[in-house]
Amino acid sequence: MGIAVSPSIHSAAASFISKRGQILINNKWQDAASGKTFQTFNPATGEVLATLAEGDKEDINRAVAAARKAFDTGAWRKMTASERGRIIWKFADLLEQHTEEFATLEALDNGKPISVARVADVPLAVDLLRYMAGWTTKIEGNTIPISVPYAPGAKFLAYTQKEPVGVVGQIIPWNFPLLMAAWKLGPALAAGCCIVLKPAEQTPLSALRLGELAIEAGLPEGVLNIVTGFGETAGAPLAAHPDVDKVAFTGSTEVGKLILQAAAGNLKKVTLELGGKSPNVVYADSDLGKAIPGAASAIFFNQGQCCCAGSRLFVEKSVFDKVVDGVAEHASKIKVGPGLDPDTQMGPLVSDEQFSRVCSYLESGRTEGAKAVVGGKRKGDKGYFVEPTVLVNTKPNMKVVQEEIFGPVVTAIPFDDPSDLISQANDTMYGLAAGIWTKDISKAHRTADQLKAGTVWINCYNIFDAAMPFGGYKQSGWGREMGHDAVDLYTEKKAVCTML
Ligand code: NDP
Repeated sequence: MGIAVSPSIHSAAASFISKRGQILINNKWQDAASGKTFQTFNPATGEVLATLAEGDKEDINRAVAAARKAFDTGAWRKMTASERGRIIWKFADLLEQHTEEFATLEALDNGKPISVARVADVPLAVDLLRYMAGWTTKIEGNTIPISVPYAPGAKFLAYTQKEPVGVVGQIIPWNFPLLMAAWKLGPALAAGCCIVLKPAEQTPLSALRLGELAIEAGLPEGVLNIVTGFGETAGAPLAAHPDVDKVAFTGSTEVGKLILQAAAGNLKKVTLELGGKSPNVVYADSDLGKAIPGAASAIFFNQGQCCCAGSRLFVEKSVFDKVVDGVAEHASKIKVGPGLDPDTQMGPLVSDEQFSRVCSYLESGRTEGAKAVVGGKRKGDKGYFVEPTVLVNTKPNMKVVQEEIFGPVVTAIPFDDPSDLISQANDTMYGLAAGIWTKDISKAHRTADQLKAGTVWINCYNIFDAAMPFGGYKQSGWGREMGHDAVDLYTEKKAVCTML
């Protein structure tokens, strides 16, 4: 039951899309237990793109059982760390060899520009897997010199070892479908866990293709299981499953709280990477030639659908007009179009639902008195395109200032008192990221110290690296993605004490 796609697109991607997407359990592709399917849509046109198995509780039960068996008795746990690392490395190599195919899948499924997916999403995912492959052989414990007061004269050997946490449920969003899958799979595989992955209903294609490559790379049965479906009927039973030892979630803060409640049943470990409303601060002494395009890219990258988007632009009063005009000029020049067009710089929003949500924020900004210097409405009359938008005349309590819009909309806010800046910048329930632009290195670090954010970029924005931890303060989440912190969060630490 294939869906026709243009013959001009990458042939491997076209043939992958034209197959009906199935669920992966125990390295075998299968239909949903219920036999149900659902469709995804091309956000550039609103037309049907692919048909996929609609997994639900029964499929989650089967996938968790497969992961449990693989973890408790399968080959993965018996392999050496080096063997595990080589499989993850091969997985990365295979992904790299299919860069064009994955960039095409991301452009079609999510809408993002193929030119961006090719240089950012795919290479970052490859690099993350390689970085994590290296960690398999470096997950170490310590020896601890203990001094037990009630055992005078006794000698002990005490040490710790880190063990994989077990079966993990991973629930990912639609904004970076491939990269979010890699961020989750990499550290879990490196630690030796077995996984049930649920991709977002809007963008499951790259995760399914990754599943094929994982088998080709040599992942044993049951180590990676992928269940496509909906949040309420597949994600929720995964988060609540009593045989899942940890759930890792990326998405909205609202659903993050539901995950936490669902996890309470067996007190499974939880990591959450949630929303943001990140401040991006431009001081008057910054290099405006860099700060202005930097501020534009901080919000408009990925159509503004980034949890860390620099969506509140704080500009020192003396340069406010210049910076706002500059960012608006950048916005007006952005080439908005279908992700597959090689010249496109900004694609459509991911879905009809997200499009409506962003448009309703634009409407709320207008009603509450904000003014659009540029943009402010839908672009065209087909697909889910929204104009890159700069809002001014905002007030701190407006919805567009407080809530995550997750679209190409920035609110520009002037400041002149540095202490007022910090309190305004921190005045949100979120704390994911922040940007600072200045030539004064002391001021940069003083500001970085005061901002409540998991990542602070100075004279740059949206710089990611597999080795650099990413995650949120406050309601932006629990735990960290990437870096060795992420690997740690997929391990349990055991203390072993021997009397000699
Ligand atoms: P969600 O938080 O609903 O979706 C993220 C993932 O969670 C998806 O796989 C989704 O499934 C799943 N999910 C949804 N409900 C449940 C549940 N009850 N139990 C378990 N899993 C569930 O994000 P939305 O797509 O609804 O986007 C809404 C807003 O969230 C955006 O406007 C943005 O503000 C924010 N967001 C933040 C992201 C981030 O990176 N921090 C990413 C995406 C969104 P499915 O979609 O398949 O139904």
